[in-house]
Amino acid sequence: MGKQAPPVEKNETIELTFEDITHDGDGVGKINGYPLFVPYALPGERAKVKVIKVKKNFGFGKLLDIDEISPERVEPPCDVYVQCGGCQLQHMSYKMQLEMKRNQVENTLRKIGHIENIPVHPTIGMDDPWRYRNKVQIPVAKKHGELITGFYKKRSHEVIEGMDRCVITAEINDRMVEAVRRMADRLSIPAYDEKSHRGILRHIMVRTGRATEETMIVLVTRTEDIPGKDELVKELHETYPQIKSIVQNINPNKTNVILGKKTKVLWGEEYIYDNIGDIRFAISAKSFYQVNPPQTKKLYDTALEYANLTGGETVIDAYCGIGTISLFLAKQAKKVYGVEIVPEAISDAKANAKLNNIDNAEFFVGEAEKVMPWWKDQGLRPDVIVVDPPRKGCEEALLEAMITMKPKRIVYVSCNPSTLARDLRILEDGGYETKQVQPVDMFPQTGHIEAVAEIHLKVSN
Ligand code: SAH
Repeated sequence: MGKQAPPVEKNETIELTFEDITHDGDGVGKINGYPLFVPYALPGERAKVKVIKVKKNFGFGKLLDIDEISPERVEPPCDVYVQCGGCQLQHMSYKMQLEMKRNQVENTLRKIGHIENIPVHPTIGMDDPWRYRNKVQIPVAKKHGELITGFYKKRSHEVIEGMDRCVITAEINDRMVEAVRRMADRLSIPAYDEKSHRGILRHIMVRTGRATEETMIVLVTRTEDIPGKDELVKELHETYPQIKSIVQNINPNKTNVILGKKTKVLWGEEYIYDNIGDIRFAISAKSFYQVNPPQTKKLYDTALEYANLTGGETVIDAYCGIGTISLFLAKQAKKVYGVEIVPEAISDAKANAKLNNIDNAEFFVGEAEKVMPWWKDQGLRPDVIVVDPPRKGCEEALLEAMITMKPKRIVYVSCNPSTLARDLRILEDGGYETKQVQPVDMFPQTGHIEAVAEIHLKVSN
């Protein structure tokens, strides 16, 4: 007998009870074992659903009416929540978001990594999980004869109209975007038009140091020339004293990438500053910098606790970015080696070490999976290795190099539970043991999950 046909048909309306939720925030309900994914449905709810796509092993549906509402359902405060799609979990209580993220880490470790019976702690959340992002980059368009700013509608390049705030962005950044929009409109600075590749102002980017309240405005333009530039710049910094830097970034290309190669300071400083704990960071227009510093502090505190440094250790920080973790490690270790693929990030890392009078951290540009085996051949034997890779996880060559270098501890900071689980399995098979995992909520209201794992070299008898 062949496999059974899906138990539903396209366009059919059915009653469904939801049991689970995906990391994108889609509710999952099953009909005779066949899962249907339905955006905005919550576990515990029962609802009328229209089937919109039927595949062999799963399908998608649209939520019509909820018959039994979950007590964890809340009203999303954002006016454009469904159109935007930048957040996926605003309709869920924050308590449930944190529980869901923990459960997903635990389930993924078990299913993909066969790692069980270790503590996966409750997710460390925020007291106030709104207005946390320190950076906003917002597209500019012209509609009905006026400049407008707004994120793109889900799966499109059409700017959402009437979007005057983003409830996960720092309020001051919202106000700065509106100020630039209003002034640019009055000065008749033309909005960039993607289709014709004409016009000038493409994006407005604003970043504010949470601890320092210093703001940088970046005008991303197609051309070097901006009509009315001098008036705009003068009015901005005279009206808003928290603005410390106004920068132009020129992106002449027909591309989805927001920033172009060239930046020039139009007024004020090239950098703004921010602090995480007692470390100070200089941030330029193109620097990568964590968007949620208070949660970053909690994430790094956990990483440091798991590294368990006493002052005498040699530590490697792989995928170090601008050296954020490295600098915290350096304060508690003898020596830190950081490696990162982006040269500009390494210059920032070096500058930040200097800014904080840290002289026991050295930074190298390169692919971690190549530099690590090279370090090993050079005889470097770290006591602790910290890795913080992008979503695709660590390269196998890097995992192999770590296994042969035999550090006593590995601390793995992960933004993707699936690749974390895969990599932990390789490390476990190579003689390591996962001790505990701590999820930290870096991106409330979204489906993103961050977690730190503590991994020890097994002691052989
Ligand atoms: N630890 C840093 C940044 C982590 S993000 C922080 O907390 O701020 C992951 C970093 O890995 C990015 O900076 C990215 O540029 C870098 N990266 C990606 N692939 C890499 C590779 N193969 N080798 C080294 N670094 C890489």
